[in-house]
Amino acid sequence: MNMPDMTVFAETESNVRGYCRSWPTVFTTASGSWLQDESGREYLDFFAGAGALNYGHNNPVLKQALLDYIASDGITHGLDMSTTAKRDLLETLRTKLFAPRGLDYKVQFPGPTGANAVEAALKLARKVTGRTEILNFTNAFHGMTLGALSVTGNAAKRAGAGVPLQHATSMPYDGYLSDDDDDSFRWMERVLDDTSSGLDRPAAVIVETVQGEGGVNLASAQWLRQLSDLCAAREILLIVDDVQMGCGRTGPFFSFEVAGITPDIVTLSKSIGGYGLPMALVLFKPELDVWAPGEHNGTFRGNNPSFVTARVALEHYWSDFTLEAATLEKGDRVQSALTTIASNFDGMSTRGRGLVQGLVFDDASLAAKVCKTAFERGLLLETAGPEDEVVKLLPPLTITNAELDHGLEILSGSMDSVCAGRGC
Ligand code: PMP
Repeated sequence: MNMPDMTVFAETESNVRGYCRSWPTVFTTASGSWLQDESGREYLDFFAGAGALNYGHNNPVLKQALLDYIASDGITHGLDMSTTAKRDLLETLRTKLFAPRGLDYKVQFPGPTGANAVEAALKLARKVTGRTEILNFTNAFHGMTLGALSVTGNAAKRAGAGVPLQHATSMPYDGYLSDDDDDSFRWMERVLDDTSSGLDRPAAVIVETVQGEGGVNLASAQWLRQLSDLCAAREILLIVDDVQMGCGRTGPFFSFEVAGITPDIVTLSKSIGGYGLPMALVLFKPELDVWAPGEHNGTFRGNNPSFVTARVALEHYWSDFTLEAATLEKGDRVQSALTTIASNFDGMSTRGRGLVQGLVFDDASLAAKVCKTAFERGLLLETAGPEDEVVKLLPPLTITNAELDHGLEILSGSMDSVCAGRGC
């Protein structure tokens, strides 16, 4: 393997850089589920831009729409002005996403990142209720800005805030205390209903249906329904952060559909722009739309090229259930391969839903070694979880079965090489 010249990155880019350390090469092009580096080496992508590339790299359908839009001098930067690209997107959201699911949401365009959407959601919940406290869950991840960090679990990320992170209280996520769904709510209900518990009445609960960064932890449909009922009975707003698990990652477009609940507020980012272009949305019930004009603004809320690719992605992939069914089928395929891998070693298990799947190690140090070996063999994979003990698989939803099998073979071979003789 030729060693790439990384000098300018090491000398000039901040120490804060992260993923480039896991994958020490210089990438040039990408197509579908594959990236290429400058030596011409190909890498199969089982990370998909941390969930921002559900439809693959440079998806041809979205690329053509984008090229046509740029060639016609369509608006690129539009603040939050009304444009044809935005009108078409809003109409498509109504017809392709909301109406078929019986949802009635207002749409807010915050800044383009997941953290931007989370900040807007928290602000709105506080403004609507006049309350300050938020409940979040153990091992949650909601982003790196101060409000989002305050509802995030990871100690190292929280420490970076540099100021106290306030007005949020962590509750046990499904399975945190035991495998009994009811256990996690026993504490939550008790402290909410006891005026002497020391917990102020919260404005909202923020939850991920599957905790991607937190280690592919799954909330069951029943747990989500119980949470939704618990919030509704106490007039606490329910925010589902679907930044990573939305846009079909777990099968259905919204990850909460499996539970049959309707969150008060939903955050979306990552794959909503379709093409990997920056874009985020906050969706909320119409009666919650108490914003004053311009009260939550920002320069980059009108990235019109991403409105175009977002619309075309919705039209192309979400007019029927083909993608949803394929994702569930591919998820089963990955899960059964991972189960076989895990059964060959001690101290391993698997968990996941749709095309977010995790291989869980008792010995956390091995997960990073497996990812490193997989990279050397041409597969991009990352770890997740409090100790980075989970190898997380997040391939593009558009990946073929042959590509999936190829990646799973590399993973299996990497396991053999890292774990041989260790009984991991
Ligand atoms: N919420 C969730 C559930 C996420 O997974 C992430 C990113 N991993 C974020 C919020 C933050 O998104 P961004 O990095 O775009 O700010």
